Amino acid sequence: MTHSKLARLGLTRVINASGTMTALGAAQVGDDARQAACEAMGDFVMIDELQARASGVITRLTGAEGGCFTACSAAGMTLGVAACMTGSNLARIEQLPDTGGMRNEVVVPAGHLINFGAPIEQMVRLAGGRVIAAGSAADVQSYHVTAKLGSATAAGLYVVSHHVVPDGQIGLEDFVALCHGSDVPVIVDMASEYDLKGAIALGADLVVYSAHKFLGGPTGGIVAGRLDLVRSLYLQNRGIGRAMKIGKEGILGGMAALEAWERRDHAAVRREERQRLEHWLGTLSGKQGLAVEITPDWTGNPIDRLRVIVDPRTAGLFAWELADRLAAGDPAIMVRDDLVEHGHFFLDPCNLRSGEEKIVADRILSELDRAATAAEGRQMTFAEWRQRATEAALAWPRR
Ligand SMILES: *Cc1c(COP(=O)(O)O)cnc(C)c1O
Repeated sequence: MTHSKLARLGLTRVINASGTMTALGAAQVGDDARQAACEAMGDFVMIDELQARASGVITRLTGAEGGCFTACSAAGMTLGVAACMTGSNLARIEQLPDTGGMRNEVVVPAGHLINFGAPIEQMVRLAGGRVIAAGSAADVQSYHVTAKLGSATAAGLYVVSHHVVPDGQIGLEDFVALCHGSDVPVIVDMASEYDLKGAIALGADLVVYSAHKFLGGPTGGIVAGRLDLVRSLYLQNRGIGRAMKIGKEGILGGMAALEAWERRDHAAVRREERQRLEHWLGTLSGKQGLAVEITPDWTGNPIDRLRVIVDPRTAGLFAWELADRLAAGDPAIMVRDDLVEHGHFFLDPCNLRSGEEKIVADRILSELDRAATAAEGRQMTFAEWRQRATEAALAWPRR
């Protein structure tokens, strides 16, 4: 792709070895989705009709009764919570986020109260809902959930994500059974999961996916689920949903991305990703200060990543300092650094363009060389690194 427009704006070129990140513009949108979104721009459509067609595509790919597009997954969760509180009562839809007269509690396993860029509990509060945490961070059992389900419960919310606390969680099947036992619908956040059918098959009532993550669509959210709840969710566009609407380009682009996903040669994509990982493994193995290994995705998505463990004593710098130096170059190389406090980061092959894996490996090696000779590393503790990131955020728009 040409960078001429981006270059004219003076924007930093980015090599994305971090996966799919909103802060980096989310997905590399595929040709079909791009074309569909572009074609949509010059025409008028009946949005209700378009969303009904979208429902057809979503149901085909998910096995759900109905579906629609939202602005993003976060919006899908807020509107899903709203739907569970108002049903299709139009007066109640206009009343939100005032929930007077409605059930408004949303039971969430405590270990699922994640931050995906914003706290998930805020997406519940945005609709007027109240989060009721079940259990503790790393200990959520059936009795914890049962104890929180009551006459004010509007929904259960469950998250499938690498952000979720890995230990001591309750399974989706059990969570659904408990909620359904109290006539409570279950909303599942699967924003960045590849499995489009599993949660629906387990009885989830509303499931949200991001169109702009692995699917390679423009920014959007995909909701699949029980037809009555999807309708109630869609009706929120007459209320709070108006503040988070998706346009025709997002819907048509998202539909095209879903259909391209159905046709994609997934095995070929995996082979290409494997080659990039092998290149990294070959070039970075045995280098002083580094240990590397291929690691599978935590939640079982069909993607492997390279874990790069940085030994600060022999490398001469901390993992977060190396990540910073890679990001400070031109092009900026962005690595997956959300667990960098453990002294490692990940290289994710899924959003690289061909040949970029070589640039990534070369830059890591040259930064290591520089660190070995310059002795400028090991200056910044992890806490200082975090603090600096906060200060940078507060100083926007300065870069
Ligand atoms: C990315 C992500 C979100 C947010 O998705 P958007 O579509 O960008 O709003 C929510 N939950 C999880 C688990 C995510 O990974």
